[in-house]
Amino acid sequence: MDKTHLLIDNQDVTTDEYLEVRDPGRHTDVVGLLAQGTAAQVDQAVQAAHRAYTAWKHVPLAERQALLLKAADLLAAEGPKVAELMARESGMLVPTNTAEAGMSAAIIRDNVELATDYLKPLQVEDELSWVSVEKMPVGVIAGIIPWNAPIILTMRKLAPALVCGNTLVLKPAPTAALGLSALLKKIAALFPPGVINVVHGGAEVGQALTTHPLVRKVSFTGGGTVAKAIMKAAADTIKGVQFELGGNDPAIVLADANLDDVIPKIVGGVFRRSGQFCFAVKRIYVHASIYDAFFERFCAEVDKFKVGHPLAAGATFGPINNAAQFRYLQDLTARTRAAGAEVIELGSKVDEATWNEGYYMRPTVVRNAAPDLEVVVNEQFGPIIPIVSFTDEDEVVRLANDSELGLASSVWSTDADRAVAIANRIEAGMTFINNAGTSRIGQKNSPFGGVKQSGIGRESSEVGLSEYVEYHAINFHK
Ligand code: NAD
Repeated sequence: MDKTHLLIDNQDVTTDEYLEVRDPGRHTDVVGLLAQGTAAQVDQAVQAAHRAYTAWKHVPLAERQALLLKAADLLAAEGPKVAELMARESGMLVPTNTAEAGMSAAIIRDNVELATDYLKPLQVEDELSWVSVEKMPVGVIAGIIPWNAPIILTMRKLAPALVCGNTLVLKPAPTAALGLSALLKKIAALFPPGVINVVHGGAEVGQALTTHPLVRKVSFTGGGTVAKAIMKAAADTIKGVQFELGGNDPAIVLADANLDDVIPKIVGGVFRRSGQFCFAVKRIYVHASIYDAFFERFCAEVDKFKVGHPLAAGATFGPINNAAQFRYLQDLTARTRAAGAEVIELGSKVDEATWNEGYYMRPTVVRNAAPDLEVVVNEQFGPIIPIVSFTDEDEVVRLANDSELGLASSVWSTDADRAVAIANRIEAGMTFINNAGTSRIGQKNSPFGGVKQSGIGRESSEVGLSEYVEYHAINFHK
């Protein structure tokens, strides 16, 4: 059985304990063994990153950029080779994982390109003095990653951190660490030892990392509960935090929306990764005048999904990633039914005989959901979607904003001015009009992140780079 170890100073480091990583689509299969680090090994990794930092921060920008471009090429070439392993450990479909490698390579290239202008110092001068505002790296960064899109979410931290001259200790999620770690080992080998280190484990390793005095900033993607623990852990050593957290993204479908265009896009926006992504559409508000037509066509499209093991022929919809999330979704569905809502399970089973051997759930739609139903007001992070009817635009904007979360959102209409006017009233970090996902220029130029309890700070774009610099103002008196 393959073992994935810790990676410190570009060396494999073994641990006393290894976790059996099981296939969420077939529990009897152990996919690999994952090292479980200790607090002492976290210290070893942080010390390595700190040693490396003292030299890496002085490596000229052009050299850092050249190494990152090599990393992008490597990821594009090697990423697809771990797509099956990732499918088996995380439940995500193989084409999803292959596409993720390509998108992640693009993320690295975008950061390399943006850094050239972004890192130039701001210089001003008058007859008495000059000032130069230099952008300095922050130091050792702890990057903590969830399971749902592990390569993309890692590269959104790794690329800006390294191009700005920081070093990293990364902690992947235990249920999506194997494929990612195989790639990280190859990428790390392109860089001096200690620039990229990887520790594995759960909350204890996370705690050791987020309290370590030499870690200067924590960049975390995950849920709000862990984010609160990290913020407390980081307080004693006054670390900066950057958080990408959950969303409960509303989609507002106006009466004039073109359903031919909307239906396939919104279905993808809800059910990609079996609904397990942060900026998935998580509640749909449809104007009453088109509700029935929307509902019928939405369900017909959703019914095409074939739920099964990601490696099974014909499967277009994988399992839920882990036991806790599966149980939460099962209970949430039961509570939604018990509350009297009409809950409809769609799609077909690829293999009835093995259905109970994995965390399988059919795509589920809630008809005429009341606006205050639990499944409407809380993030599901899975394949159950409530569809709410509305008649008044002011009321639907109020409902959209009546949440502690504010990650993304979408507005669907053939009237551009009306859609933009509504977009401007939504409390969210991102709004998509007539789509539910980033475009190529969106990925490069849009700051990605949320308002309120959906996060602190942003990833991607120049704003994402700004998370990884400190300012050093040098004021020269003539
Ligand atoms: P999670 O918060 O349970 O875990 C995320 C990571 O934190 C894992 O690596 C985990 O091992 C680690 N961790 C656990 N306890 C820790 C502790 N005490 N200290 C430090 N690290 C600790 O999240 P998850 O279940 O893996 O992911 C689902 C959540 O992530 C959802 O809420 C989703 O919306 C959110 N998410 C947000 C984004 C975004 O960009 N905004 C992207 C993906 C997922």
